[in-house]
Amino acid sequence: MTFIDFKKQQFHLEECSATALAEQYGTPLYVYSKAQLLDNWQRFTRYWPAPHRLCYAVKANSNLAILQLLAAQGAGFDIVSGGELKRVLKAGGKAESVVFSGVAKSVEELTFALQQGIGCINVESAAELERIQMVAQQLGLMAPVSLRVNPDVDAQTHPYIATGMKANKFGIAMADAMPVFRRAHELPNIQLLGADCHIGSQIMTPAPFLDAAERMFQLVERLQSENITLTHLDLGGGFGVSYEGTASLDLEAYLTGVLKMAENYPQLTLVLEPGRAIIADAGVLLTRVEYLKETDDKRFALVDAGMNDLLRPSLYQAWHDIVAVDEANNGRGKLVDVVGPVCETGCFLGHARHLTITGGDLLAVKHVGAYGFTMSSNYNTRAKPAEVLVDGANSFLIRARETFDDLIRGERLLDRT
Ligand SMILES: *Cc1c(COP(=O)(O)O)cnc(C)c1O
Repeated sequence: MTFIDFKKQQFHLEECSATALAEQYGTPLYVYSKAQLLDNWQRFTRYWPAPHRLCYAVKANSNLAILQLLAAQGAGFDIVSGGELKRVLKAGGKAESVVFSGVAKSVEELTFALQQGIGCINVESAAELERIQMVAQQLGLMAPVSLRVNPDVDAQTHPYIATGMKANKFGIAMADAMPVFRRAHELPNIQLLGADCHIGSQIMTPAPFLDAAERMFQLVERLQSENITLTHLDLGGGFGVSYEGTASLDLEAYLTGVLKMAENYPQLTLVLEPGRAIIADAGVLLTRVEYLKETDDKRFALVDAGMNDLLRPSLYQAWHDIVAVDEANNGRGKLVDVVGPVCETGCFLGHARHLTITGGDLLAVKHVGAYGFTMSSNYNTRAKPAEVLVDGANSFLIRARETFDDLIRGERLLDRT
């Protein structure tokens, strides 16, 4: 179901028109639909009965209000830094509902996580396991851990977001995993809960997921034969979203397929870590056309949002639908490149779009709720945009637009030159 679409020829998020939002809050502006977020969350919970758990991947969108809404739904969280843990706690999430991923956790981050009572640390290497033992011993507590195994499956996605192949930096190679599990089983301050994997992001078919799951269940059996019993199996995130409007991942097929495999392992609580699939299509970026520029063979719309606001097109050659908020201005007209103000040829939002636009028009870049604001930067000394949440006919500012003073906070002039 979609809550973001044209109504009476005007682009809306729920009952709020994009034009009115842009007037009230300015542009560029990230806007999220609460109804879409909750609908996406419930698509997962419908097929994923307790005691199995869902841990929302915070890095997709870490705004406190978004985390607060998910915490109220009973979500757990998947984090990749101490900062993300602080966000979860601030938003009302519980440390015991959190799994802590990430390849290079510092002593400081591990200490903080253990002191807070983290639910599980996803260990990415043998060296990290030794560090966790040391920190847990110093704190005089048991560290709950899962070992991240690399199941060596090809997720058939963009190389920058494929994480489950041998050549990636993530996890412990399946071939090297057994000794690390034995070691974890023996260490005095380690409570070995289970195993985890995350094979990549934006995966569009159930096959690679089911492949990985099968290998993980085989690992559980191999460990069981050595009397190492796991109670927790975390199969990661990576659920694909259709940016182009084509068929998206058949979530029901995957979730029911995995639950079927798990029937033989009643001791296992399964965990998933969806990020993108929860929030991507719940967010749009509103941007205004500053100028039009025409050369012999090109038409450019120079807009007020750039790669510092939305990096995905520049970083991953990601395609996002861009619509004129006046419905009549879509699908016609000459091809336009929608480009941003940052001084890089790579600063663009979309190439060759059929749009009829004039200076001052408002555009909406769709499906930017995930890895949109969280990857934004201040490059070119540009303030990060405001974020707004829409609920029916109401809208709420959930992050104020940055000011110049925000940008230079912490910088110091020299006493003398
Ligand atoms: C990024 C990440 C996720 C979420 O991936 P999505 O593609 O957004 O679902 C889940 N788990 C881990 C370990 C991650 O690094």
